[in-house]
Amino acid sequence: MSKKDVVIADYTDFCEDYTSLCARAFPGDERFTDEGLRRVIYALYARLVECSAKFNLTAILESRAVAEKHIVDSLMLLYRLERNGALKEGDRLIDIGAGAGFPSLPLAAASASGLFPMFSVLSVDSSAKKIAYIKETAELLGLDTLRAETGRAEDLAGTGLRGKFDIVTARAVASLPIIVELGAPFLKVGGIIAAMKANVEDEITAAAPAAKKLGLTEAKTDLYSLPSGDARSLVIYKSARPAGREYPRQYAKILREPLT
Ligand code: SAH
Repeated sequence: MSKKDVVIADYTDFCEDYTSLCARAFPGDERFTDEGLRRVIYALYARLVECSAKFNLTAILESRAVAEKHIVDSLMLLYRLERNGALKEGDRLIDIGAGAGFPSLPLAAASASGLFPMFSVLSVDSSAKKIAYIKETAELLGLDTLRAETGRAEDLAGTGLRGKFDIVTARAVASLPIIVELGAPFLKVGGIIAAMKANVEDEITAAAPAAKKLGLTEAKTDLYSLPSGDARSLVIYKSARPAGREYPRQYAKILREPLT
């Protein structure tokens, strides 16, 4: 099938998949399948598939796969943060390397629904095209808790955004030692990095010296699975003191000289 032939599932078919996935991912929690939220989630799915036919946003386009691997996976962050007592009304969250808006857009949809504690989302990506997509989507869907900014995280960390966030997240962006260095400077003291990962034991060990240098506490790992059985983990670090002004270093240096 060529890109142009992509099929957009209708609302009823999409919702059937989304609802059954939610029943397994968020058992007993009916907020995720609330009618109002479901309509926004469907609009998000339809726009992702429609825009992917024009420019490359994601390789995942089949409706059940989008529902699980992009949308439910993103909402899992919210679900697990709540369960860990790590989300409160008024929190500021930054999503580094948001790409096509994951986890940012589903999180903003949940926040705007009024069913969860209200928190704000800032999507950051080095690609102006992806940030334009996120901004337009948020506007179209009425997600006024979301803002988006083009830039590299290591450059934006030197701006007014430094030290301003309660939660830093990143999905499929880089290895943990890099995420820790890019993310820690954005945190308020007491704020957390919540990195969305698949398999991480080796990365946690590799990131331990960097975490210590950046003023973070030891990693806490929350292991879970997607409805299909794919293993996931949320790696959480808390900021115990502000990261030194020398961090983050330039990207080439972060890659070349891991903190030890
Ligand atoms: N989080 C999304 C996208 C992952 S792809 C998802 O899970 O689907 C990784 C994205 O990170 C790309 O869009 C890339 O442009 C961005 N990125 C990589 N390094 C970055 C950096 N240092 N600062 C900002 N964005 C970065």
